[in-house]
Order: sequence, then structure tokens, then C-alpha cells
Amino acid sequence: MNNVLELERVSRSYGRGGRAVHALCEVEVQVPEHSLTAVTEPSGSGKSTFLQCAAGLDRPTAGVMRLGGRVISGMKERGLSRLRRTHVGFVFQSFNLLPALTVQQNVLLPLRLDGRPRGPARARELLARVGLDGREDARPGQLSGGEQQRVAIARALITELDVVFADEPTGSLDQETGAEIMNLLREAVDQQGATVVLVTHDPSVTARADRVLRLAHGRLVQDSRAGTVAASGVPRATSAAGGPVR
Ligand code: ADP
Repeated sequence: MNNVLELERVSRSYGRGGRAVHALCEVEVQVPEHSLTAVTEPSGSGKSTFLQCAAGLDRPTAGVMRLGGRVISGMKERGLSRLRRTHVGFVFQSFNLLPALTVQQNVLLPLRLDGRPRGPARARELLARVGLDGREDARPGQLSGGEQQRVAIARALITELDVVFADEPTGSLDQETGAEIMNLLREAVDQQGATVVLVTHDPSVTARADRVLRLAHGRLVQDSRAGTVAASGVPRATSAAGGPVR
């Protein structure tokens, strides 16, 4: 099976010298295609930094990162932003739909931003898959939180993607609605061949993943596929001066 995402000793530090914060330290991960990976553990452990670096929203300060076989760690902003438009889908905790656009226009937005033909039939097909048949012309404000997240999933799947990244996709939903959203993400992996990498605090979400990665203080401390990868000697993600890290 091909790896769609590869991190080789990837580190991300903020600031320099004694006050540097090491948000990610030499993280090594290979994500195979058609899999659902959950990255978990407490706040401040480096989950958001992991997701942002992996999705090309941020650049690592050291290490090599490949997405769909391309090295993205040294890419300039222009290349990264094109890559994000064409190879990466995003699902956020707060849905991030555009309120002035219809549901269908929101789903088609990644194609429109990339100057591609509109593909309304594909949008309708994806909306039907996420259970929103007939709601194409509604505005996001007329939908429940769970329905809005369904639209976000359809939008994330509209392009030919390498990976869908999801940041706490069930974080603002009740348990039952969150479970439905996880069903859809699982279905995207199992039936549509998507690859999903998400960050979450929620054990009911990690329970649905093929693989769980635990981060602590910026280091990968556990990989459910490989067992514990490092248990001790983990430096804390605080500034060396001992002050607040943000
Ligand atoms: P999580 O998503 O697990 O809560 P983050 O990736 O947001 O963790 O943060 C990891 C560490 O890096 C934390 O100690 C955080 O305060 C620090 N950090 C994140 N972003 C910045 C930044 N822009 N400047 C300085 N420190 C940051």
C-alpha cells in the first residue's frame, strides 16, 4: 500500500534560542492510503501543529515531509497554496462554510477556486451520499450543526485528494451527531478510498480510527500500529525560560 503522507524527523519550533518552544520534535510517521488515522492527547501536545504542517498550512523547521510522493517541506507559499487547493481537503470543528453561498456552491468552492469546471452533478452525488439530498439550495444558516459538517465533508471530497485533514470534526456536535459524522468519514475511507487524518480529544472518535497516534509535548509517544514508540525522556513543550509558551 502506498504512503500518501510521510513525515521524516519533522520538527516545528517557535521562537529561537533559550525561549524556543518545540511544538513538534522529530516526528516520524507514514500514513498509508485508504486509512483513517487519529492523532490524540492533551491540549498543548502539538496536535494542531502536526495537522498544520502535514496539511501544508505551516512549514516544519526541520525534517522532510511528503504528500502524495512530493516533498512539501521546502515548498514556497505559492506552491503550498496550490497544493492545498488541489490535493488536500479540510474539515474543521467550526465547519467554515460560507454563509452567503448555497450548500451546493459551498461544496463546489474548491473547484471554483482552482478555476475548474463546475461539476454540479458530482456535488449533488456527494451531497446525496452524506444524506443531504434535496438541500442543495439551502444556506448553511438553515442547517443544523451536524448537517453543516456533512456539507463540509462533501466539500472536502469534491477534489481528487491525497488526504482529508480534519481538526476536531465532532468537537462542536453532540454525541449522536458526532457518531453520524464519524460514520461518514469511515464510509469515505472504506467505500470511496479516501485517506483521513484527524485530530481529536474524543475517545469515541479514536475508537473508529484504523490507527491512533499519541503526541505528548511534541513527540510521538504511541502508535497503535507499532505500540509505544517512546515513553520517557520527553521534553516539555514550554519555553526554556519557563515562561508561558504562547
Ligand atoms: P495542541 O493542538 O495539541 O493543543 P499545539 O500544536 O497548538 O497543541 O501547540 C503545541 C505547543 O506549541 C504548545 O506548547 C503551544 O503553546 C505551542 N505553540 C503553538 N503555536 C505557537 C506559536 N504560534 N507560537 C509559539 N508557541 C506556539
